[in-house]
Amino acid sequence: MNIHEYQAKELLAKYGAPIAAGYAALTVEEAVEAAAKLPGPLYVVKAQIHAGGRGKGKFKELGPDAKGGVRLAFNLDEVKAHATDMLGNTLVTIQTGDAGKQVNRLYITDGADIAKEYYLALLVDRTSSEVAFVVSTEGGMDIEEVAHSTPEKIHTFSVDPATGFMPHHGRTVAAALGLTGDLAKQAAKVAQSLYDAFLATDAAQIEINPLAQTEQGNLLVLDAKVGFDGNALFRHKDLMELRDETEEDPAELEASKYDLAYIKLDGDIGCMVNGAGLAMATMDIIKLNGMFPANFLDVGGGASKEKVTAAFKIILSDPAVKGILVNIFGGIMRCDIIADGIVAAAKEVNLSVPLVVRLEGTNVQQGKDILAGSGLPIVSADDLGDAARKIVAQVKQAA
Ligand code: GDP
Ligand code: MG
Repeated sequence: MNIHEYQAKELLAKYGAPIAAGYAALTVEEAVEAAAKLPGPLYVVKAQIHAGGRGKGKFKELGPDAKGGVRLAFNLDEVKAHATDMLGNTLVTIQTGDAGKQVNRLYITDGADIAKEYYLALLVDRTSSEVAFVVSTEGGMDIEEVAHSTPEKIHTFSVDPATGFMPHHGRTVAAALGLTGDLAKQAAKVAQSLYDAFLATDAAQIEINPLAQTEQGNLLVLDAKVGFDGNALFRHKDLMELRDETEEDPAELEASKYDLAYIKLDGDIGCMVNGAGLAMATMDIIKLNGMFPANFLDVGGGASKEKVTAAFKIILSDPAVKGILVNIFGGIMRCDIIADGIVAAAKEVNLSVPLVVRLEGTNVQQGKDILAGSGLPIVSADDLGDAARKIVAQVKQAA
């Protein structure tokens, strides 16, 4: 789960990270009121969407020469003009895709005089199973280009969970940023605060770009992108409240309501499977047979009729889906119950694409009988290979 920049900054500030004053705003009036509470003379008006690259982004509704989603303002009239430009309009950045994202919130912050922009991020290094720091002197809006053409300018190291964050880790960050004296101390303190926040919130990512050095000699978190490990969110009721559902994929959001693990992909064959490993294998074998999965969907161990129906509806809400492959292993779950669910769901959603079902396990014969006796054009398959071949053949035939 990702959160907005203003939420991320409020959160990081609690752990001691240095943040400029700022307020979120939903309307132009609120934006101006927010700016009036700040000292000035420089204000920054920032579009709040769950995507980076806002500064260089373009608004669909405004001309190509219009400024992007992060703008400086030197008085309240300019704040008002920028807020009017941004709110309700669609910002397209390198991270949003062509459709862009509608800007419904702004963040008005006290503007900093930037002397230098650094990059500092924390994430989970899956190879070492440790929290890793990614540090670069070349922060700012071109970090992707730095990573691509001068990767030696990006330093990484990870923290042993047995010791946790130690003073030498702070010194490593400062050295990687080329800082000495008081600035080095500030860098170490920022690194410690981010590490503390990362652990305490079960974060998956904390990216500060830029970490700015101001003309006054202070380090400041100017942009913050924070994402949490969805599997740990049950431990953080307070963080769940930061969720902005309007930023999420509608199908994935619907799936989460039914506790279905659904991820949309780019292919044509919708998949409904129980168990993540079986789901991966099913996707692989579809590819092996020459087509691509339209989604990953794990209905879990105790899939009820309601869950199966919801899963069908979610798969079919993707207009790209040309056929559905159901692959269920009835262990705890009995195949006849699953078959009942499939038949009810197929009737309820008025299924219009080919459906191949492979059932295996407890009560498999009763399950197959239910499918065969349903009067619906459901194709039964005997094993995984058979199922994949059949759905690909059915879809090609229907085309
Ligand atoms: P992003 O484009 O989505 O990554 O948004 P950022 O929050 O990183 O802002 C983009 C750029 O705007 C930064 O790299 C800075 O150069 C500039 N910027 C952001 N905040 C300030 C500020 O307080 N003062 C000044 N002078 N520039 C800022
Ligand atoms: Mg940024």
